[in-house]
Amino acid sequence: MKAWRFYGFNDLRMDDVPVPELRPRHVLAQVLVVQPSVTEAQLAAGVRTLAYERIKKRLETEAPVQLFGHEFCVRIVEVGAGVTRFKPGDRVAARAKLPCENCPLCNSGAGHLCRKGPIIGFQLPGCFAEYAILPEIALTHVDERISDVEAACLQSLSDSVASVETAEIRIGDSVAFLGQGSMGLECMQIARVSGAGKIITVDVRDEACAISKELGADYAINATKDDPVAAIRDLTGGNGADIVFECAGGSPAQGMAGVKSVAQAMDAVRSGGKIIGVSWFGSPFELDVDLLRERSLRYLFPDISTLAHLEHTVSLVAAGRVRLKPMITHTLDGMERVPEAFAITANKGKHKAINPAQVRMQV
Ligand SMILES: [Zn+2]
Repeated sequence: MKAWRFYGFNDLRMDDVPVPELRPRHVLAQVLVVQPSVTEAQLAAGVRTLAYERIKKRLETEAPVQLFGHEFCVRIVEVGAGVTRFKPGDRVAARAKLPCENCPLCNSGAGHLCRKGPIIGFQLPGCFAEYAILPEIALTHVDERISDVEAACLQSLSDSVASVETAEIRIGDSVAFLGQGSMGLECMQIARVSGAGKIITVDVRDEACAISKELGADYAINATKDDPVAAIRDLTGGNGADIVFECAGGSPAQGMAGVKSVAQAMDAVRSGGKIIGVSWFGSPFELDVDLLRERSLRYLFPDISTLAHLEHTVSLVAAGRVRLKPMITHTLDGMERVPEAFAITANKGKHKAINPAQVRMQV
């Protein structure tokens, strides 16, 4: 089969490799649509972000190596021994971070807290290839009302569902979202159907603000024109929002907000309110902990998504309660265009992309 392999940072080549061998409790699947996550696209370019050191080491010791590709829609070709939930022909999507199934947490039914298991695309080969071997515990059926390109967004959406659950929104809470990229828009829509009251979103791109309004934000503020903190305070009677989702932080070279959006979140949330840290920053930074303490702020980080979160994404999208199509701005035909998808996703602002660029692999 053809598979994209990394020989180093910025060095991705399509090679002929053997179709991987099917194992018990795994399926062999043909890849229909795959997209790099923003983190993967940045790592591929050698940008310091989440998991940079681990990827660097794998490249130094194992290259050429199949990396990344945990956001996908695939069709099952063959099932291994012990697979009970799937059969050949089924269309499936996956969650990425898996429990190890062999530690005290996993053995006591708390596998959602386990951090020892593999991540698809990082420790396990992902889907930038014609075929992939995938563990059954990662997978969910894709409803027929969901297209292949939408299904490739379900992994990211399951992380967004987990983020919103972490926020424990109460009915009527005012909720602000700093950043309206794909995860910001996903979290916003999920919060909206989970009881949020007034919804205020912030981005620096007119096109993202327009999509945000279309998908249900009550107010979409362009931070290049208006002070987002002042606007959020104005719209919440001067106190600040009950909950602020920080979905904008990260490398400024890739069009992200740096660490400024964390300070903005702390200023835009009411005392005793919650900040949900959805973004990744890539390196440590200084934080005014005394301000967090003084204002009794809760700076929370999302739980990892479970199979239940992933299954919930299917019902949300199939029923039209969360809409992905307006976010899918770039879909490329043919697996030879994978490097182009990485380039677009690594710099979405420049390409006016909202969702990562997708690749239809079977064309
Ligand atoms: Zn475990």
